[in-house]
Amino acid sequence: MRFNRVAPKIALIILFVLLSQVCLSAQQKPDCTVRVTLLQVNDVYQFAPVDLGTRGGIARVLTLKQEIEKQSPNTLFLLAGDTISPSVESITYKGSQMIDAWNASGLDYATFGNHEFDFGPDVLRQRMKESKFKWIAANVIDKKTGKPFGDAQSYVIREFDGVKVGIFGLTLEETKTTSRPGPDVAFLNPCETARKIVSELHGQGVKTVVALTHLSMSEDKQVARCSGVDVIIGGHEHTLLESASGGAPIFKMTADARELGQIDLNISKNTGTVESIDWRVIPVTSQTKEDPRFASIYRKYDALLKELSQVVGHTAVELDARSKAGRTQETNVGDFIADSFRAATKADVGLMNGGSIRADEIIRPGPLTKRDVLSILPFKNRVVKLELTGATLRETLEHGVARSVEDAEPGRFPQVSGIRFTFDARRPAGSRIVELMVGGKSLDEKKKYTLAASDYVGIDGGDGYSMLKGARLLTLREQAPFDSDVLQAAIAAKKVIAPKVEGRIKRLDQAQKQKTDCN
Ligand SMILES: [Zn+2]
Repeated sequence: MRFNRVAPKIALIILFVLLSQVCLSAQQKPDCTVRVTLLQVNDVYQFAPVDLGTRGGIARVLTLKQEIEKQSPNTLFLLAGDTISPSVESITYKGSQMIDAWNASGLDYATFGNHEFDFGPDVLRQRMKESKFKWIAANVIDKKTGKPFGDAQSYVIREFDGVKVGIFGLTLEETKTTSRPGPDVAFLNPCETARKIVSELHGQGVKTVVALTHLSMSEDKQVARCSGVDVIIGGHEHTLLESASGGAPIFKMTADARELGQIDLNISKNTGTVESIDWRVIPVTSQTKEDPRFASIYRKYDALLKELSQVVGHTAVELDARSKAGRTQETNVGDFIADSFRAATKADVGLMNGGSIRADEIIRPGPLTKRDVLSILPFKNRVVKLELTGATLRETLEHGVARSVEDAEPGRFPQVSGIRFTFDARRPAGSRIVELMVGGKSLDEKKKYTLAASDYVGIDGGDGYSMLKGARLLTLREQAPFDSDVLQAAIAAKKVIAPKVEGRIKRLDQAQKQKTDCN
């Protein structure tokens, strides 16, 4: 038994000695290569499997990683951004659950995605402190120090069997406005940054350069053309993409570790440059066992995972929580939420800005879990009651439809309760509402009405609802209930819900358009 285990090892050692002699004696020999394997995931928001357990799951990725490392010892595990937000879990843990999961998975390097800044720079700094892996970011700069944000590095250099591999990170410039990095973080031009870093790495004798990016594909292609990188490991699109530009391949997996990318760089020992690249996209499915070392992560978050899977009620109908629908027309989810706000505060009318209804999916008939409720209303806004005149209520609704032809998906679009109105978006903004009924009667501009809305809209004037800032607040903001709790209670009270679009909002220009389309 013992002999059998040792013999292959001796054979391997002899083979290795022979190979290295060949390499030393014939410097030009092309088969003197070092294989460096890059394992890729990107845009991973949940550590547990997704798609009803059929795909993803970091514990399964860990099993695959172990198997690959047996074949290819020079392996680096990379995350191409987006993990701290958004997810239902992150409402509670602000991404620390993902850092725990990555720490358990043996992740080597991560770059920032745009969503890493969703909870602000201080939370990200805290998440970086908790990380056992290294964050790399060449174009995300702390203006106060002039250095990469937090304790990130622009790049790292790793050496394998005498060849050097440089890895640097790049993040979308638009993160500045689409997330919350604050005023002290600058996002430099990816192309210019890449050019500078690649030449710096070349200057240090690094001939193989990997860009770990969170950019759009068109930006990745520009970076590939302008900088001389050898391979780009990217993300952000949530689409499986394999492209090439400027001689460099670009890889992106979909999201939530549904696949693991394996990219083998075959690097010449003599020149240190990439001779060839092999790759495969490995589907992460229930066929792969979960690594038992991940059990501690499941144990730690067991309570939350159980809580999120708690059934709070049932729906007998499809619930339309698609973003586009909620921002362009009355939806059954919009009606139900506006009704629940109004009932919870005993207000005359209820208003919900369509942009705050998330989930972005049609929820099928069946049980509704806490995860469903929080995926629809994730922001923990408070439901408040205001008093306003009929004139201000009209102005509020005019504002709600003032971008209905100008924007494809205006977040301000009003979902309402206790109100019926007809609007015509062909008319100028500010005078689009042609009929407005409150509680079955025409609106009285002089009368006072009470309105239920989120504090985001009603107090902060979010989505441009600044006219509500002047309304009289009838509830204490700090004591007002959270929107998701109000929704959950409304579902629980009914046990089975079946909301339908009731014709509260009529749009004249679309009805007209459909008629002409038919002709
Ligand atoms: Zn992204």
